[in-house]
Amino acid sequence: MNKVEHIGIAVRSLADSIPLYEKLLNTTCYKTEEVTTEEVNTAFFKKGETKIELLESISETGVINKFIEKKGEGIHHIAFDVTDIEFEMNRLKQEGFVLLSDTPKQGAENKLVCFLHPKSTNGVLVELCQEKKG
Ligand code: ZN
Repeated sequence: MNKVEHIGIAVRSLADSIPLYEKLLNTTCYKTEEVTTEEVNTAFFKKGETKIELLESISETGVINKFIEKKGEGIHHIAFDVTDIEFEMNRLKQEGFVLLSDTPKQGAENKLVCFLHPKSTNGVLVELCQEKKG
């Protein structure tokens, strides 16, 4: 676990939320990207070392849509940068944390990602992400 890589925020509409966050953070969105494995459109902002990821569902049945139906818009997950995601996944599994996938998945920004079940982390959805090598 190196640092917080980004904070993920669930939104209903990127079209509405991108201008809002551009005003809030006084910066422009540097990237939007569709992540098909998670059924989301993402938008990224950077301030210093800190990144914010907005997530909009692209399907009725997607996880972000379910999250918003249950809890409304808001903070969805905290992502930590890791050097070796398989090592961290094994370490956390041995420590008793529940992983949501057995192998890393393709995430946004050319990263390998894995989520931890919130029931094992005091209700916080935690994402591990590792920069893909090469
Ligand atoms: Zn994320």
